[in-house]
Amino acid sequence: MLREDLTFVGTCDIAGLVRGKGFPSTELPARRKSGIGWTHSNLMQTCFGPILDTPFGTTGDLMIVPDPSAEVHVDFRDGSAPEHFFLGDIHNTDGSPWECCVRAFLRRAIEALNEAAGLELLAAIEQEFIFTGVEDVPGHAYSLSAFRRQGVFGEMLMAAIRAAGVHPDSFLAEYGPRQFEMTVAPHAALPAADAAIIAREMARGAAFRLENRAIFSPMPVADGSGNGVHIHFSLHDASGAPVTRDPNGPMELSAVAAHFAAGVLRHLPALCAVTAPSPVSYMRLTPNRWAPTVADLKLQDRGAALRICPVFDAADKEQRDAQFNLEFRVCDATASPYMALGALIFAGADGIRKRLALPPNEATLPISLTAALDLMDASAAMKSWFGPVFFEAYLRHKRSEAAYVADLPAEELCARYADVY
Ligand code: GLU
Ligand code: MG
Repeated sequence: MLREDLTFVGTCDIAGLVRGKGFPSTELPARRKSGIGWTHSNLMQTCFGPILDTPFGTTGDLMIVPDPSAEVHVDFRDGSAPEHFFLGDIHNTDGSPWECCVRAFLRRAIEALNEAAGLELLAAIEQEFIFTGVEDVPGHAYSLSAFRRQGVFGEMLMAAIRAAGVHPDSFLAEYGPRQFEMTVAPHAALPAADAAIIAREMARGAAFRLENRAIFSPMPVADGSGNGVHIHFSLHDASGAPVTRDPNGPMELSAVAAHFAAGVLRHLPALCAVTAPSPVSYMRLTPNRWAPTVADLKLQDRGAALRICPVFDAADKEQRDAQFNLEFRVCDATASPYMALGALIFAGADGIRKRLALPPNEATLPISLTAALDLMDASAAMKSWFGPVFFEAYLRHKRSEAAYVADLPAEELCARYADVY
């Protein structure tokens, strides 16, 4: 068969989808500099396809410039076209970062944390999804049987993640029907977000080659099990030393980690508009789903918004300090990992800067996307993190999406999102 090697450059946009363009790989040297052409209203493409509302109209030119450190070249060796893509940054035509670039948003958050405290955040993002290539067998959650019945999917997935340059950590049959979970090793925030996107795409790519799907929608069926995206994170000083733990602090949190957590809890109701950014996200954030419903910080509690994770088998204080991490559980795969991680870091950095104390009471989380967007709209802090143009664009995008599906019954709403994610 006549074939030519192709490369794709894209970004994981505010719809949480990787979008961009492909070109002959022979053009890569030039494309590394000039990227691929993009336009402002691409940002406003909803997850369903149409641009329902846009402040940008039809004007404007941008480029997505590939990041050489976010290149994936994975050949599944089944005769299919290799997965060859770059994640990239959206630039203005003069080469400056576009104010609505999702990766630039995360970079600004990283800088805000550095400015507030001279700290860096490491993150490991774990993701749950449905693999459609297995039949559901009741009672098989976490079972060896379910692990076996997924066939070669798990092996393909782990190999693909590794070949993509990400370190795979675990793969398991989760609690829900046909539900699986994958985890990867921790990285600094930007590569951690890249790794989450890459792992997600490798799951989709492996499932696709088996003529099936990996479905990451937070609520694939109404009243089913939710698919969470859990962001594990820890704080590190300029020398790389972990600074999240203090054995004498509240729940063993260091003072700076407690301020960070307080910042996240303070902003959390409004933050949901970014970390749980679809109508179905709020079907997951309901009682009895091992998913959060209030802005709380709990020790080893998987129902909490912020969970303090256990330390396993640590021989000494150094190992305990290194392992100690928090888990942010109010996130799902309809969010771009750049946006979710960026919002989390901005909120934590604000907590450090204002030396916020852990709140005595737990705020409830919004129960719908529209409620979350209203909270975001009223948040001066969030407006300052986004900047005015991106803030307005984000709200208009998400409000138009919410309105578009507002009248759908729950089952149909879940089905529409499961088709996309
Ligand atoms: N599936 C749950 C969620 O939606 C999480 C289950 C777990 O603790 O792994 O977040
Ligand atoms: Mg899980």
